[in-house]
Amino acid sequence: AKELGRDGIAIFTPEMTATVRRKLSRTDELRQALLRDEFVLHYQPQVDVQTGSIVAAEALVRWNHPGEGLVYPGDFIALAEETGHIVPIGEWVLQRACKQAKAWQDHGLPPIRICVNVSARQFQEKRLIETVANALSESGLDPTWLELEITESLIMKDLASSIARMHELEQLGVKLAVDDFGTGYSSLSALKRFPLSRLKIDRSFIADIPHDADDMAITAAIISLAQKLDLEVIAEGVETKEQARFLVDSGCNEIQGYLYSRPVEEERFHCMLENNGRI
Ligand code: C2E
Ligand code: CA
Ligand code: CA
Ligand code: CA
Repeated sequence: AKELGRDGIAIFTPEMTATVRRKLSRTDELRQALLRDEFVLHYQPQVDVQTGSIVAAEALVRWNHPGEGLVYPGDFIALAEETGHIVPIGEWVLQRACKQAKAWQDHGLPPIRICVNVSARQFQEKRLIETVANALSESGLDPTWLELEITESLIMKDLASSIARMHELEQLGVKLAVDDFGTGYSSLSALKRFPLSRLKIDRSFIADIPHDADDMAITAAIISLAQKLDLEVIAEGVETKEQARFLVDSGCNEIQGYLYSRPVEEERFHCMLENNGRI
C-alpha cells in the first residue's frame, strides 16, 4: 500500500513501483488484446431439468494470451473494469455471442437462449442500449433469444437508475436475469419492480448441498420466491447428482454446472446441440 511520508505526502515504495509497473504493462496488454483478436468465448449449457435438453448457453470470455495461454476472467476482468477496457471487451462479447447464437440457429440446431454477462461499468454506460441494439441488428438474432445477466449487487447499488436501465433494455425485447442471486440485499418489493425473466441462484448456496441445511433452506426459499413472482429460476455451479436432485425436487426449472458440462469451445458446443442436448 501507499505509505504516508512525514508531511503526509504519499510516497511510492520500491515494491509499489514494481506493482504499478506490472499493472501498467498488463493494462497495455489488455488494450492490445482486443486489436489482436485475442479474446475467445466459451459456452456453458443451461439445461431444462424436465426434458434434460440444453435450452441456453452462457457465453464466458477467455483471453488467449500469446505468452501465458488461456487466461480466465478471474485474472483480468477486475483490471478491465478498473481501466474501462471492459466496455469495448463487453461490446465484443455481445457481438460475438449474438452472431454465434444466430449461426447455430441458421445451422438448423435447436434454438437456444444466449446469456451474456454485463459488468457494472458496461451497465452504467449510456451507449449500452445502442451496443445491444447493434449486436442484435448486425447478427440478425431475434432479441427474445438474448438474455443479459446482471449481478444483484450491481442492481442494488443504485436501484432507481438500475430499474430505468432495465426498462430501456426491456424495450429492446431482450431478457434480463439477476446473476449471483441471494448474495446481495434485494428486498422483495424491489424485485417486483424489475422487468425480470429469471433469478440465477448463486453458486455459493449450491456448493454445500446436501450437507448444509441452511443453504438448502435458502435455496428452496429462493425457488419458491421465484415461483410466486412468476420468474424462471436457474441454479449455477451444480456439480453433483445430489444437488441436481434437490433442485428438481424443490421446483427449480434449469441447472448449469460441471455436472452437465464445463464451459466449452464453440465447436464442442455445436456437437452437444446436435445431439439435441444429450451427451
Ligand atoms: P459467473 O457469471 O458467475 O459465471 C459462472 C462461473 O462459474 C464461470 O467461471 C464458470 O466457468 C464457473 N462454473 C460453471 N459451472 C461451475 C461448477 O459447476 N462449479 C464451479 N466451481 N464453477 C462453475 P468463469 O468463466 O471463470 O467466469 C468467472 C466470472 O467472470 C463470471 O462469473 C463473470 O462474473 C465473469 N465473466 C465471464 N465472462 C464475462 C464476460 O464476458 N463479461 C463480463 N463482464 N464478465 C464475465
Ligand atoms: Ca453469469
Ligand atoms: Ca454467477
Ligand atoms: Ca454454507
